[in-house]
Amino acid sequence: MAEAADRPQVRYETPAPKVARIVLDRTDKRNAQGTVMTYQLDAAMRRACQDDDISVIILAAEGDHFSAGHDLSMSEPIAAPEGDRVTLWGQYQGPGWEGMYAREREVYLEITERWRNAPKPVVAAVQGAVISGGLMLMWMADIIIAAEDARFRDNTGSDMGVPGVEFFNHPFELGVRRAKQFLFTGGWLSAHAAAAAGMVNEVVPRDQLQTRALALAEEIARTDRFTLKLIKESINAAQDAMGRQEAMKAAFANHQIGHLQNMLVHGFPIDITRLPESVRKHLEAAVAARKAGDGE
Ligand code: ZN
Repeated sequence: MAEAADRPQVRYETPAPKVARIVLDRTDKRNAQGTVMTYQLDAAMRRACQDDDISVIILAAEGDHFSAGHDLSMSEPIAAPEGDRVTLWGQYQGPGWEGMYAREREVYLEITERWRNAPKPVVAAVQGAVISGGLMLMWMADIIIAAEDARFRDNTGSDMGVPGVEFFNHPFELGVRRAKQFLFTGGWLSAHAAAAAGMVNEVVPRDQLQTRALALAEEIARTDRFTLKLIKESINAAQDAMGRQEAMKAAFANHQIGHLQNMLVHGFPIDITRLPESVRKHLEAAVAARKAGDGE
């Protein structure tokens, strides 16, 4: 557990002129997003956006899978150090739902929105499983290149009693009817099905994923940096004019109702009854340990 805090979970590379590549590198946990990865990713995004020599950002992942989703192991602190936080929520140790609500707002909703609004184009290169919270990491990108083995699901509803991930972009990614089926069933969507739905730009063989993402990033980087920022802002504004942010606020409120219902029924923010027994036991022990250490 200690290694998670010491070893970088996000790498920063400059593979070509004007191109930064940010690589999720926590393969022992299938690139699960915990507090440490979240803020290392934010630092990398800030670095790429502030660097005058960078025009385009690639978001990639080490290993067989892009991301297994949010880290539910409770092995890291629920909040980042104060200087790293991007919102003014605070009170992560607050009573009742106050602390968890602060985490949900900062670490899952608002920081993802911040990355989505990063001014420079982001090209995501995704492979293997992209599950629930992993979708949020991918969806912040402007262009998504998927390997043929990429597959996508959001099982928060079907397996955990929560109505979809916090950054609720499903209807805008998949269209209304596909989004409903996706969430009602928690089933897998293939790379080709995701491309047909418009969630993915291109599907390429697994061994060509990184070369294709880099070639596209270099092609984009030939366009003037400031012009790229203005294009991105205009298209994002069009999506927001369709009500994306208002819809996401409503979904986030429903997401919180889901967590609170699970607290009342199961004593956990998620329905743990359908999780594998080993995961359930680990979570029960982690919660008991956290309660015992209250006030630390
Ligand atoms: Zn949540």
